Amino acid sequence: AAALVWFRRDLRLHDNPALWAAVRSGRPLVCAFIDDPDAVAQLAPGRASRWWLHHSLAALSRSIRQRGGQLVLRRGDTTSELVRLCGETGSSEVFWNRGDNPTRDSGDTALAARLADRGVKARGFASGTLFNPATHLNGSGKPYRVFTPFWKACLRAPEPSAALPAPDRLPGAAVTASDNLEDWSLRPQAPDWASGFSQDWEPGEDGALNRLEAFLANELADYPQSRDRPDEDGTSRLSPHLAWGEISPRTIWHTVRDHAERGGSFQGGEKFLSELGWRDFAIYLAHHFGSLRDENFNRQFDHFPWRSNPAGLDAWKRGQTGIPIVDAGMRQLWTTGWMHNRVRMITASFLIKHLGVHWRDGMAWFEDTLVDADLNVNAASWQWVAGSGADAAPYFRIFNPVTQGERFDPQGLYVHRWVPELTGLSGKAVHAPWTRPANELIAAGISLGQTYPAPVTDLKTGREQALDAYQTMKARA
Ligand code: FAD
Repeated sequence: AAALVWFRRDLRLHDNPALWAAVRSGRPLVCAFIDDPDAVAQLAPGRASRWWLHHSLAALSRSIRQRGGQLVLRRGDTTSELVRLCGETGSSEVFWNRGDNPTRDSGDTALAARLADRGVKARGFASGTLFNPATHLNGSGKPYRVFTPFWKACLRAPEPSAALPAPDRLPGAAVTASDNLEDWSLRPQAPDWASGFSQDWEPGEDGALNRLEAFLANELADYPQSRDRPDEDGTSRLSPHLAWGEISPRTIWHTVRDHAERGGSFQGGEKFLSELGWRDFAIYLAHHFGSLRDENFNRQFDHFPWRSNPAGLDAWKRGQTGIPIVDAGMRQLWTTGWMHNRVRMITASFLIKHLGVHWRDGMAWFEDTLVDADLNVNAASWQWVAGSGADAAPYFRIFNPVTQGERFDPQGLYVHRWVPELTGLSGKAVHAPWTRPANELIAAGISLGQTYPAPVTDLKTGREQALDAYQTMKARA
């Protein structure tokens, strides 16, 4: 009999405990990935993520083949396909890594029961987070709602266990019919709006490990200062690799630590690992409190008077709001599938507060267009910005996109890169073109409303409307 390894958002051979357990069973392996269009619990990935998935599956398939195995692709209902594959290959056990999506994990239990009914044993392993989300509770035995004490408790606990190497051989895979990856049409066809993604990204675990090495060598030491600067390449850009499980958080943890021990700098290491801690925290919150995608974590926000603003939402999506740092961020997102964290906060805050649009609409656009879209992290982050989340920024602290731009993109280089219409303005002037004298705009070749939009909302009015809405919520709640 064969052993079936079911790949999900763990598209890697290194540090893959399910794969190792299957290899150790000594049986021939069948490696499979199932694209289940209807898996509610798995929540279908957005369009940018599907582009990534295409390339990641191609990379995984190559690595498995190099080790003597085969990646079988199937499309259909997960349970039926797993049962079918077991029947075709004489497998009696399915090995998988429990993911980091609590909704999916509760689905895992039901799936394991359905498989057991058909005589197939499910073997689940954990590798999606640094720390087991079930373990850390506060002094009163309740889950933490605030990041800092949560993270301190994690740091007091035993370190994450060592990461596993990739197996050298994936023995004697039974040959089973597989779909052709091209036929899945995971990449956008006409128009191929993702064609530029390949310039920025190398999906797959080799790409992930290379990215980590480059980050440690070049950027880690300055990370605490440069991580907030969208005009610099100061962050790791590991997020899409993490979202698809091409690298595990504990591989990152131990590689960062080893780097320090080998005499590399650990400056920046703690800050960087604490950002990974925020990823764990988002998953932890969902584990204990349920998905943050659907409901306000702080139920007071159920009374918030959101505005219907389809024109504002549309201008935001298209990077045509007339607020330069917001437009730069939204265009970076569309063109590369990624946006700098500081700018994610600025664009999200602008949509929620100045335009009065529900955080759920912004979250949905990010889910569709980010290559790193992660249901838990994205939802927790949107609610953090909205003020409705756990340990969130208070609603009434409203980012001013102009001062944010002046502070974090002081020479306007980030805006110039994504909003070339404004290259005629330099320095701080680029962040508020509507405040510039007419002759300066003419000299810069800018005509507001013609070559670049006038602001969709006056910032002062937008801010006042947001504060009024907040008062209305408080009065209603
Ligand atoms: P680095 O700074 O190098 O951080 C390393 C890793 O730590 C990241 O890859 C990520 O896994 C984790 N991390 C960093 N910052 C955060 C954070 N604030 N919260 C949780 N984890 C973090 N991140 C996603 O991975 N997927 C999302 O869908 C997502 N949506 C977001 C939506 C909004 C509105 C905001 C404000 C943030 C969102 N983030 C999301 C968090 C953060 O912006 C990205 O993780 C980060 O920009 C990724 O770039 P990096 O890998 O270079 O980060």
